[in-house]
Amino acid sequence: MNTGVIQDLHTEIRSCQKCPLGKTRENAVPGEGDLQAKVMFVGEAPGANEDRQGRPFCGRAGKILDELLQTAGLKRDEVFIGNILKCRPPGNRDPKPDEIRTCTPYLNTQIELIQPKVLCSLGNFAAAYLMRTFGMGGKVQGITRLHGKIFITQMPYGKIRLMPLFHPAVATYDPRKLTTLKQDFLQLKNVPK
Ligand code: URA
Repeated sequence: MNTGVIQDLHTEIRSCQKCPLGKTRENAVPGEGDLQAKVMFVGEAPGANEDRQGRPFCGRAGKILDELLQTAGLKRDEVFIGNILKCRPPGNRDPKPDEIRTCTPYLNTQIELIQPKVLCSLGNFAAAYLMRTFGMGGKVQGITRLHGKIFITQMPYGKIRLMPLFHPAVATYDPRKLTTLKQDFLQLKNVPK
């Protein structure tokens, strides 16, 4: 993989003004991690901490994600962590359809360049976007029915597996979800190197 290509893409994302979020953000958050990662995570959008630091999952949800990665025996620097939207929606409101349409070509290019063995969506928005885009089910069910299951689709470069997961932030208000998340993350121990 040509690292320069993805680094150029991340430079472009940092100065992107394709949608109004470019005006309200402090920092765009392209994503980070191993550009040859076997496991790639896709969250929803940067929050306040991420916007301040320009890094994904560096706040409260990020602490939980770190704990979950540890459960799976994975280090942060051997996975890739990105988001559907690269800029923070003001007040952490839900992403708008227009913003998703404008921003996701960046994510799609990242997936194509990294070619992970497993793509893990975090939360409802990411599951809905990835499942629809990659043809893994026309009518997308809620994450409660989907989490921890593997869906397979054929990409131009080969097969891609998608495992929808709950968003780590749910564990901050529902401790039972942390147990479920840990059970699902344990499956990532079996991803071939
Ligand atoms: N929540 C997300 O979905 N993404 C982040 O980067 C941080 C919190």
